[in-house]
Amino acid sequence: MKKVVKFGGSSLASAEQFEKAGNIVRADKDRRYVVPSAPGKRHSKDTKVTDMLYECYALAEAESSFAEEFAAIKARYQEIINGLHLELSLEKEFQAIEENFKNKAGSDYAASRGEYLNGIIMAEYLGYEFIDAATVIRFEESGEFDAETTNKILSKKLEETAYAVIPGFYGAKEDGTVKTFSRGGSDVTGSIVARAAHVDVYENWTDVSGFLVADPRIIYKPERIEMITYKELRELSYMGASVLHEDAIFPVRKEGIPINIRNTNLPEDEGTWIVGSTCQKSKYTITGIAGKKGFCSVILEKEMMNSEIGFGRKVLQAFEDNDISFEHMPSGIDTMTILVHQDEFVHKEQSVVSAINRMAKPDHIEIEADLALIAVVGRSMKSSRGTAGRIFSALAHANVNVKMIDQGSSELNIIIGVKNEDFEVAIKAIYDIFVLARI
Ligand code: ASP
Repeated sequence: MKKVVKFGGSSLASAEQFEKAGNIVRADKDRRYVVPSAPGKRHSKDTKVTDMLYECYALAEAESSFAEEFAAIKARYQEIINGLHLELSLEKEFQAIEENFKNKAGSDYAASRGEYLNGIIMAEYLGYEFIDAATVIRFEESGEFDAETTNKILSKKLEETAYAVIPGFYGAKEDGTVKTFSRGGSDVTGSIVARAAHVDVYENWTDVSGFLVADPRIIYKPERIEMITYKELRELSYMGASVLHEDAIFPVRKEGIPINIRNTNLPEDEGTWIVGSTCQKSKYTITGIAGKKGFCSVILEKEMMNSEIGFGRKVLQAFEDNDISFEHMPSGIDTMTILVHQDEFVHKEQSVVSAINRMAKPDHIEIEADLALIAVVGRSMKSSRGTAGRIFSALAHANVNVKMIDQGSSELNIIIGVKNEDFEVAIKAIYDIFVLARI
């Protein structure tokens, strides 16, 4: 058995947290590849090292003094080194980083140092080999991640290395220029390493015991999801459930490697398993609920719309010409609704409306703002009847007016549009009917 273990920022925020991570790795010989994030927050008012680095570099780029900010970053690492009683000095590293900041090496380079330095400490602490991600994770000239080249280089390197630490979040272009993934990108690195090393499990250690059926800010102590498929997870993450980076499932999905989300502070918890497919039914008809506020709907009416060839294309062209992507597009015989992000749409509203009028000539256009979308996701929905009915009667009982419904053809999720102000009530009503009433 081989495992990749990725630790998030809060799992490595202090020496104490590092010790917990170290104990986890040492408890299982199969935990051969470790992917660390940069030190995160030690308490709610603290600042993540990645944010400190961005801030510090912005000063360097503006040619202001950054000595104080730089010293604060150094202190974060020194505190960890001292707390772990390591004979390690990062002085040379810091000198090089300071020099590179002065030479304006770029904000990606700056941010990546958070993981880089934490990786050096982790490797020293565990006695594992350190592999600089810049040498094995490749980005194209355009800045796109180059999955196949990376997989080749990294597989080869890992074949030769039995135990290694590979810092998360960054890689480099062929010429050595450091490039990062988007925020939270160490999850992606973990997945890339898992694929290249052909491991059996990708363990992702964080500060919660897995995915929850609904947002704990809305539902008091929601149930944990024991098992979820990649596809379900993708639907939920897209709609705002954030534990794992949205792109982290792609590399492991190619190899069918399961991801196990675990809690560094409660290592005995089973966490959530994210798998390719499973014959295990979810505990409830639904696997999870997620949602987002801040959408607008553009409602079009035109007599005989259904038989007019090219109507839909012309309407979507109006959005495309204005550089706006749409989220959903439920339609009726003579009506069509296009849902868009309000913050993107609001500045271009009139330009889109006039383009629609010009190209598609609808009879009527109406815009409604301040809508929320809720995704009710579940692989078991396909085989159980009456799911939609239950959702709508629960919403009706809670006095929530449903503005839009869209069921994907995969029958994996039902999207419901409600007013922003009904968002929390609607989620609670859906949670209660499926989880509390256990139907
Ligand atoms: N340290 C980076 C961030 O804060 C990446 C990560 O933690 O995954 O976004």
